[in-house]
Amino acid sequence: MVDLDALKDRADAIVADHADDLVAASRRIHADPELAFAEGRAHDLLADLLEAAGLAVERGTGGVPTAFAARAGTSGPTVAVLCEYDALPGIGHACGHNIIGAAGVGAGIAAAALADEVGGRLLVLGTPAEEGGGGKVALAEAGAFEGVDAALMVHPAGLDLARITAIAIHQVQVTYHGRAAHAAAAPHLGRNALDAAVLGYQNVAALRQHIRPDERIHGIFTEAGTAPNVVPERASTFWYVRSPTVAGLAELKPRVLAALEAGAAATGCTVEHHWQDPAYADMVDNEAMIERYRRNLARSGRSLLEPSRDQAVVGSTDMGNISHLVPSIHPMIAVSPPDVAIHTVDFARFAGSDAGDRAVLDGARAMAATVLDLWAEPGALEAVRLEFEAKLASGRATGRATV
Ligand SMILES: [Zn+2]
Ligand SMILES: [Zn+2]
Repeated sequence: MVDLDALKDRADAIVADHADDLVAASRRIHADPELAFAEGRAHDLLADLLEAAGLAVERGTGGVPTAFAARAGTSGPTVAVLCEYDALPGIGHACGHNIIGAAGVGAGIAAAALADEVGGRLLVLGTPAEEGGGGKVALAEAGAFEGVDAALMVHPAGLDLARITAIAIHQVQVTYHGRAAHAAAAPHLGRNALDAAVLGYQNVAALRQHIRPDERIHGIFTEAGTAPNVVPERASTFWYVRSPTVAGLAELKPRVLAALEAGAAATGCTVEHHWQDPAYADMVDNEAMIERYRRNLARSGRSLLEPSRDQAVVGSTDMGNISHLVPSIHPMIAVSPPDVAIHTVDFARFAGSDAGDRAVLDGARAMAATVLDLWAEPGALEAVRLEFEAKLASGRATGRATV
């Protein structure tokens, strides 16, 4: 019988041994933000750390140049720890993905050192482009999650939360085509694409009264004409369509599209749309994994809260897609006061602070301990698997990473 508590203490010690490197990596990535699919320096930095610790690292895995896969262990169940490291345009690491990357590497190094002794296999996966582009979906399509029994990551926030309130999202670009004309001399010859876009926008506004209260549709104008005295021949809008589940999203999308297209019909214009893949799925949290993460996080003196009406992080993530494919969790770890929201300049500051550094190390410890539970706690992985199979059977999980 393995002594899990003793193993977790050893994992803690390994994280402590690497603390300086992990914190330095978090700070370096934070100070040098790179956008989706261009995270070359963060990729190299994290891959180098894993390789130096003895993991076998495949750079550019799955045909994605800034993804990596690091492996350890030769037998037993496979647990994947996921790293993100992309930043946001204009506001740097305002989502704190530097912390996700460094914490994932810390957990990976600690668990890898114990993998052969415990009898587990570890995959540390570097997953680019969470903020747009869906690196995890590309990796899933390339087979990166085949044979993976469970997947986990941590994401910084203003609270230690058991889960993100992640709802499904698909983005759509809409372009209206009309006919240009002099707006004073010959307006009757024109067909106004801006009018079409405005009516489409207003139609969506009317639709909002009759969608579920937890659904969201929000759009902007990206092209609206060039001069007031020219009837706009072209106008464009860009929309995020969100619903709590992929099934709800599938019902909502045609209604949104009908509203947008009606603007063209009313004005004698034509319209084209382009759904931007991949769509992000909702998150199917594995409660058996969350329970273990909760206990393991408590070892660092943090208590994991459930989201409430006033305390929640609502958004969308490509980890949702993975959670439909393999048992997954996406807990949030506190780096800022609760009133500081992610995707703000304020939050970016906290992601590069001492509190951010503590989250790297506490997150690494809690994830490493959870990996050990899944490898070695009798019945743990079985409970995780049975829960996931029940969610597949009920349709709560789709079994696919693509929406
Ligand atoms: Zn994020
Ligand atoms: Zn984000």
